[in-house]
Amino acid sequence: MDRVTISLDDLPIRDDLRGLKPYGAPQAPLPVALNVNENTHPVPADVASDILASIGAALEQVNRYPDREFTRLREAFAGYLGGGLVAEQIWAANGSNEVLQHVLQAFAGPGRTAFGFAPTYSMYPLLTRATGADWVAGARAEDYSLSAASAAEQVRRADPDVIFLCAPNNPTGTPMTLDVIEAVYAASRGIVIVDEAYQEFAPRDTASAVSLLPGRERLVVSRTMSKAFAFAGARVGYLAADPAVVDALRLVRLPYHLSALTQAAAEAALRHADTMLGMVDEIVAQRDRISRELAAMGYRPHESWTNFVLFGGVADPAAVWQALYERGVLIRDVGIPGHLRVTAGTEAETTAFLAAMASIDSQA
Ligand SMILES: *Cc1c(COP(=O)(O)O)cnc(C)c1O
Repeated sequence: MDRVTISLDDLPIRDDLRGLKPYGAPQAPLPVALNVNENTHPVPADVASDILASIGAALEQVNRYPDREFTRLREAFAGYLGGGLVAEQIWAANGSNEVLQHVLQAFAGPGRTAFGFAPTYSMYPLLTRATGADWVAGARAEDYSLSAASAAEQVRRADPDVIFLCAPNNPTGTPMTLDVIEAVYAASRGIVIVDEAYQEFAPRDTASAVSLLPGRERLVVSRTMSKAFAFAGARVGYLAADPAVVDALRLVRLPYHLSALTQAAAEAALRHADTMLGMVDEIVAQRDRISRELAAMGYRPHESWTNFVLFGGVADPAAVWQALYERGVLIRDVGIPGHLRVTAGTEAETTAFLAAMASIDSQA
């Protein structure tokens, strides 16, 4: 049978989607994968068996639709975040990417704009444009930091409907202090999303933007179980906000968007939060070791409050990426000239990465 191969442009696709590229971090089966900021430590066996038991119990009623309001899970997230939050202030979805998509569907869309300080998380513009809204990029200082005055001024000028503050920032690792968030909120009229995907990797006494929620009904703090909780494959993200914001998200979510199996798995994992987060200190130690040893090799690692390190001083990032690939180590070229990004691995994975870097040091 003849098959006619067509391209996207031959389809009656939305005009505003023409020419866009999908998210596409390479997925390659290499022994050392340090490219998408996953938690490289698997879920501990005793936690895994409790999760399995919970999924098993949920399976007994899987002929029925799940609790559309995922009430028990929202209560569990409120308890985990603390700060006096209640379940009515919590939302969750299949990864924080879907949480962010819900916010954009409700508050962005055609004729509206979303804004973020580049370089920042590559999914923000993609999710924004998929709702038909325009993406506007602001700027950071040369070291990727952002002062409250500069952030507020840029937001005032752009006057966006949705503002993304990635705190700490991906792909740079840069911390963000609460005064920046307060200043941006005061300078804006739109929804301010603080994406705290890496909050658990920040120094222990670091205040979360959750502490800024009282009295700020346009503020949204998003989190994920993908990174610190070692749960990337389960797809669970969540946010805290005013209950009215959560009401808005109900208008755009698919009915029963969070499966009974996902709810059961996430609830069970949260019962073991201490164990699940047990590897965070070890990962932070490997992150700091990467920064130290790369600096000793002559590279320029940026300050990081996350589980990864962005480093400059790379003469030919594509060549170094390829040389690492050939040595079985996958990291990320995030498209910043002279830079590469690496996720902190287990001690053994980190050793493999650093040894590979040392071996190609002179060639790059
Ligand atoms: C990894 C990451 C997320 C998490 O995405 P999930 O959909 O929850 O896996 C969100 N925001 C940023 C900035 C990230 O780096």
